[in-house]
Amino acid sequence: PSKESQDVLQAFEWLTKLYHHLLRHSKDGKEGYHYLKERGFSDETIDTFQLGFSPKSKTFIMQFLEKKGFHPQSMVKAGVLTTTSDNEVVDRFQGRIIYPIKNHLGKPIAYGGRTISDQSPKYLNSPETELFQKGRLLYNFDLARSHIRKEGKVVLFEGYMDVISAYQAGIKNSVATLGTSITETQAKLLRRYVESVVICYDSDQAGILASYKAAKLLRKTGCNVSVAKMEDGMDPDDYIKKYGPEKFTKDVIAVSDTYMAFIMRYLKKDYNLNLEGDRIQYVENVLDEIALLDRPVEREHFLKELANEFELSVQTLSQEIRSRRAMTG
Ligand code: ATP
Ligand code: MN
Ligand code: MN
Ligand code: MN
Repeated sequence: PSKESQDVLQAFEWLTKLYHHLLRHSKDGKEGYHYLKERGFSDETIDTFQLGFSPKSKTFIMQFLEKKGFHPQSMVKAGVLTTTSDNEVVDRFQGRIIYPIKNHLGKPIAYGGRTISDQSPKYLNSPETELFQKGRLLYNFDLARSHIRKEGKVVLFEGYMDVISAYQAGIKNSVATLGTSITETQAKLLRRYVESVVICYDSDQAGILASYKAAKLLRKTGCNVSVAKMEDGMDPDDYIKKYGPEKFTKDVIAVSDTYMAFIMRYLKKDYNLNLEGDRIQYVENVLDEIALLDRPVEREHFLKELANEFELSVQTLSQEIRSRRAMTG
């Protein structure tokens, strides 16, 4: 790495310690600390993830960085300071909880900042920089890696809070995409370490659509995908807080839908299966998906399920599958 990026890494190292210290031990950080306590996070968890707080001050962080010898402009470029519309350089994360985002070696290279009031946006993240490209990174991969290997499985979440909650609940093989849907780079990265991926996104419209896209991409990348489901509107952190870690492990993670079961359930939402036309289209759609499955036993399993549900003959459906597979080679 260049001298400049070395310096930036050093700045992130110091800043991460400072934010964390402020949260844990300063008057300025009390609000942030109480917010996290209120949400059920232990000191140990707060320390593990080095959660921090940026004081409600325009220049607290800037002054610290200046004293350490960093130029404000290079820190604007690194995304920890920002320029206002009046061309004033100020702290980017004023009054927000800080989630250090670490690269795969465990070095902080960006931050997520959550408001503790109802300020908008709820999350303010670092901008993309030379060091930080969010589509190439998974949150918590550094801590999760050995657990992923050991369990032979990774749980994929949407948010920082979900990962941290899961970790505290003992589910340590967990990572999150950073608010965007999963990219091919992230999928390939996971596949290098593990075959089985449990998608556990928020149970809202955005989360369910993101699950569908992630399921398809991860499958294409060669992963063995399953998809967890929760009550409407909940996210994994809500669920763990409401029902506890055991129930989350037993009733959400352990019983996640297989890829096809999820796809079949997902596709249904677009159709009114009381209508004959919709029923036919739905069946056609599901057949397209079944035809893409590699393993004959899997194809047969879902084909039978489909045949039963719609009172169709297995022979006819098999024929459909054969012609689809012949077409795509
Ligand atoms: P909380 O429980 O604190 O409300 P959450 O993780 O449930 O947080 P979501 O609204 O479900 O928050 O968002 C999931 C993830 O998406 C966040 O953890 C964050 O990484 C990302 N995200 C959400 N809102 C934004 C935003 N405005 N800008 C950038 N990223 C965002
Ligand atoms: Mn969400
Ligand atoms: Mn959420
Ligand atoms: Mn949440």
